[in-house]
Amino acid sequence: MAEHHVATHCPYCALQCGTELTGDTGAVSVSPSWFPVNRGGLCRKGWTAPEVLGSADRLYEPLLRNEHGELVATDWDDALDLVAAKLRDLASEYGPDAVGVFGGGGLTNEKAYSLGKFARLALGTSRIDYNGRFCMAAAATAGNAAFGVDRGLPFPVTDLDEAEVILLAGGNPAETMPPLMQHLEGAELVVIDPRRSATAERAKLHLRPRPGTDLALALGLLHIAVSEGWHDAEYTARRTTGFEQAWARAVGWWPERVERVTGVPASAQRQAVRMLAGARRAYVLTGRGAEQHGDGADTVAGFINLALALGLPGVTGSGYGCLTGQGNGQGGREHGQKADQLPGYRLITDPGARAHVAGVWGVAEESLPGPGIPATRLLESAGTAGGIRALLVFGANPVLSAPHAGLARAQLSRLDLLVVADFLPSETTRMADVVLPVTQWAEEEGTMTNLEGRVLRRRALLPPPGRARSDLEVLSGLAVRLGRSETSFPTRASAVFDELARASAGGPADYSGIDYERLDSGEPLHWPCPAEPEGGSPHPGTPRLFLDSFAHPDGRARFTAVDWHGPAESTDHEYPLVATTGRTSGHYQTGEQTRRVEELSEAEPESFVRLHPDTAARTGVHDGQLARVSSARGTALARARLDGSMRQDTLFLPIHYPGTGCANLLTNPVLDPRSGIPEFKVAAVSISGVEEV
Ligand code: SF4
Repeated sequence: MAEHHVATHCPYCALQCGTELTGDTGAVSVSPSWFPVNRGGLCRKGWTAPEVLGSADRLYEPLLRNEHGELVATDWDDALDLVAAKLRDLASEYGPDAVGVFGGGGLTNEKAYSLGKFARLALGTSRIDYNGRFCMAAAATAGNAAFGVDRGLPFPVTDLDEAEVILLAGGNPAETMPPLMQHLEGAELVVIDPRRSATAERAKLHLRPRPGTDLALALGLLHIAVSEGWHDAEYTARRTTGFEQAWARAVGWWPERVERVTGVPASAQRQAVRMLAGARRAYVLTGRGAEQHGDGADTVAGFINLALALGLPGVTGSGYGCLTGQGNGQGGREHGQKADQLPGYRLITDPGARAHVAGVWGVAEESLPGPGIPATRLLESAGTAGGIRALLVFGANPVLSAPHAGLARAQLSRLDLLVVADFLPSETTRMADVVLPVTQWAEEEGTMTNLEGRVLRRRALLPPPGRARSDLEVLSGLAVRLGRSETSFPTRASAVFDELARASAGGPADYSGIDYERLDSGEPLHWPCPAEPEGGSPHPGTPRLFLDSFAHPDGRARFTAVDWHGPAESTDHEYPLVATTGRTSGHYQTGEQTRRVEELSEAEPESFVRLHPDTAARTGVHDGQLARVSSARGTALARARLDGSMRQDTLFLPIHYPGTGCANLLTNPVLDPRSGIPEFKVAAVSISGVEEV
């Protein structure tokens, strides 16, 4: 193939930095483009992303597990025939809900849409969810409840350039999405994080709550804002409801009580609120640190309540937003691969939404299944009575990403059929009965939606390698074998997008005014972008939401009355420390891609655990020593890194490593009852050194 050139976006996080790719199948080079979110910047993950395209162990052909337990190459027809036949048999014996589907937060909008349609139509199952449930569900639930619609940032990233003060609860963009930091440079940062992260290093004020007490801190900040008269009473009266109920909970969270619970000094709490309230342009942002809790939706609601009390959301130059993490974590939650949703970001229980989507799909509304169950429960149900007997995984690695990873692995091993579509081997493909090789970012057309709700074009530089196919072709091939027509499962990305746009019409995430032609012309289109023209021209999209009104029928935002009851698990004599998990600058998600990049792998080659030197001294662990970290659920091995900035009661482990280094061997699968997000940030653990021979 002759060398050529495309404008596209980084394959990794939700910032979706603009890139230019040049090359051919032999060598691809990347350079940053002057896209608004990255303005010519890329992090080292983005710079090295092309290396993944030519990984030595890339999946090039379908694999079937033989009678000796080995995965051996086969052809596509045999693989798809076998999968379809087994799915049919299992559904006929156990019912359609015996088949589960698990999607990924990095799938394009078109794939996420097709996956949801495939599950509901071709399989007739309600058992679909995706790994975004592990990372954005709490913010989505809280955002929907407060504003009537959830878009990570309801304003362009570039609006942050003008902020005077930004409070960031549980986010570390200096490591996870470094180009974002240029938009925060002009602001004074208040960072809430139990550890002194790279972002906290740059903060004017760093609040270090005990892990699992974020909501108590949020309640305390609201208490100070109101009791000291810094809240915006005119705004809350005019633009919100529910203030009194929320205040009734926060009134008992005076600063000294909050200090006792969280460890954050009362003076620092006051300083944080004073900074926010005194700024003319201020933002409250949340990340996974605030969200990945058994009370994650309430915790986010606590920070939204604070933002509402200060009169920030829906005001030009101020606001609340969530820093979505996964590449298509935003679009992935809009098009129907979530257990409770249909395309257009509509509830599957909404009769109007069901009728509309059924009409687009050309089926009877009654034929659509109802809501499914959250991802963690879906995995746990594998092989149990009434649970799933087969699972199709597209672009995800739940064996590492699920909480209580040991249990997830054990449950998946009980399945009658595990099918994984991916482009690289992972811990999940290694358990599969059938592995389907698919294309990756630079080999496919499609769209992604970044953390600010802007729809972006992903463009192919390379043809599919080997016998790899796009996920759209795989889904279409299976759907046809399950009795659906080829025309109802198109394989051309633009055709899928056009259908997706029609299916989304009238929903909160309305894409019906967007098409590839407009995107390819460079129009900055943020949803909602309805088909109806505005002022005689095509709708320009909606970069800023809520300026006139919020999306609830009365146009007002909702305070949510929340209270703190503590994490599900407490430390005790056996497990006296708290483990919290997070990300590093060199790796993405479970690391299946970035661990294959030499530069990144050399920089962060193995799992590690950060701990305070005094904690290390108490537990007999030395710097650089392999350590055994144990919880009630399992043990992970990680290299000890002593860090004087850590809290003495807290350990930190990154989530990017496989095998015995998997941090999720420790984590608690308790779920937030409102959003289904698991508790990734608090696990009671012990630590000891390992004698290496
Ligand atoms: Fe940008 Fe995120 Fe890619 Fe880094 S990983 S280059 S921050 S999109």
